[in-house]
Amino acid sequence: MTLAQLDLAAEVQTILGKLGVAADRYTGGTLAVRSPITGKEIGRLSEASATDAGQAIDAAHQAFLEWRLVPAPKRGELIRLLGEELRAAKASLGRLVSIEVGKITSEGLGEVQEMIDICDFAVGLSRQLYGLTIATERSEHRMMETWHPLGPIGIISAFNFPVAVWSWNAALAIVCGNSTIWKPSEKTPLTALATQAIFEKALDRYIAEGSKAPKNLSTLLIGGREVGEALVDHEKVPLVSATGSTAMGRAVGPRLAQRFARSILELGGNNAAIVTPTADLDLTLRGVAFSAMGTAGQRCTTLRRLFVHDSIYDALVPRLIKAYQSVTIGSPLQDGNLVGPLIDKGSFEKMQQALEAAKAEGGKVTGGARVLDGESADAYYVRPAIVEMPTQAGPVKEETFAPILYVMRYSDLDEALHLHNDVPQGLSSSIFTNDMREAEAFVSDCGSDCGIANVNLGPSGAEIGGAFGGEKETGGGRESGSDAWKAYMRRATNTLNYGRTLPLAQGVKFDV
Ligand code: NAD
Repeated sequence: MTLAQLDLAAEVQTILGKLGVAADRYTGGTLAVRSPITGKEIGRLSEASATDAGQAIDAAHQAFLEWRLVPAPKRGELIRLLGEELRAAKASLGRLVSIEVGKITSEGLGEVQEMIDICDFAVGLSRQLYGLTIATERSEHRMMETWHPLGPIGIISAFNFPVAVWSWNAALAIVCGNSTIWKPSEKTPLTALATQAIFEKALDRYIAEGSKAPKNLSTLLIGGREVGEALVDHEKVPLVSATGSTAMGRAVGPRLAQRFARSILELGGNNAAIVTPTADLDLTLRGVAFSAMGTAGQRCTTLRRLFVHDSIYDALVPRLIKAYQSVTIGSPLQDGNLVGPLIDKGSFEKMQQALEAAKAEGGKVTGGARVLDGESADAYYVRPAIVEMPTQAGPVKEETFAPILYVMRYSDLDEALHLHNDVPQGLSSSIFTNDMREAEAFVSDCGSDCGIANVNLGPSGAEIGGAFGGEKETGGGRESGSDAWKAYMRRATNTLNYGRTLPLAQGVKFDV
């Protein structure tokens, strides 16, 4: 079957119907959604107005006032049910992710698995929102730290992980006692509708089990930048977790700071790997290929820069170029294809501009051309590009959200580390080596300056157990595992006096 013959609109309708989304939610509106697989329209949604956003935030605030009274382990039960509903919906939702974003089938399913994993994590977490007991200098006193819910949490998400990012935030925010309001990418609102329906199923089951929960615990606002801005500017939203480009973070961060609201910023990356003389080259080849070409280069953690030691450059790079020339490109719904489409024409044009700029800096480009345009004129498939660069200059220092891998030689590890860190972004990184000193140096205080630093695997494909996020222009936020939950709560330090005197700290005397 050619791309032109695929009827994805019909399939989307079947999937959404199965997941419990009424047809009037995705027909007749002003926001057109296209599948990047064919470039054809697959839905039309109504967009929220500023008034709708204000009402949704007020309702979410009311929901928060009720939900914070529910004991945390009971909140966890709701997320346990959400995990069950996601397991039941995995095949359908995974397929919808593939259709709406253009991810290959196993990555679409993997995205839903990630949602299930964070639900499991959050259920356990609901019994572990620990505070400390702290030694006090005053007799007959006790000092402790307690953690409390914050309020309605705004979640703004990007197109490339259309549903997993919601779950990283929402699963934690909800067990922490908050309500959530989600503004998904305007490019991927259908998977958001489906996810909201799945959440509502879990909520209905929770209530049917006899537990109390407010109806507006998790709400969805469909729309573009203006709807996101309504969340950012509203005084009743104490925290906005925003995932997207650095340009978005630059707009959102200061606006939140202006009203002293908190932010979790998860922005662009420009991830690199260093390949040293002792690296296992077969493993390196696979690690580089997946991280650089997977998801058609549209992951925030995609490998974009590769530093290869002089002594192994000729053993590795020609093999890599061969892999780039032979990787299977096409409909991500078809087994065997490893690279699907770019999200849209704008993305294709930015890729071509970056390749031209790289050539102007002396880069030698292999690949990068559009393919399959004869089958579907509105879909943008490209052969991933590998660019041998004389220096780290021009577009190499920017994130182009497309499959371009810049390859550079190095001869000294300190020099490679310097170049590795010498970009504005700081999300993910890796080193391929079998030298213990090099591996340890890379993850040490003076190694990679990124939020994620790996050894003998590529920079992409993180698990939910660790805190996820990056430094510098990547925004500094952390989501998902480890103690990222603390960002969704407020900390109080409590001192309790159980004596009959009033000793003051630091020996201060104040006798009246
Ligand atoms: P984008 O910045 O265009 O949009 C992201 C979201 O922000 C969308 O929902 C959009 O409507 C909203 N938005 C944009 N401007 C806004 C504003 N001024 N106020 C409020 N909301 C606004 O990003 P995209 O093209 O959807 O996604 C790709 C980018 O996201 C890449 O840069 C990628 O690296 C980054 N990303 C980062 C992470 C991470 O965890 N660090 C994860 C996924 C994607």
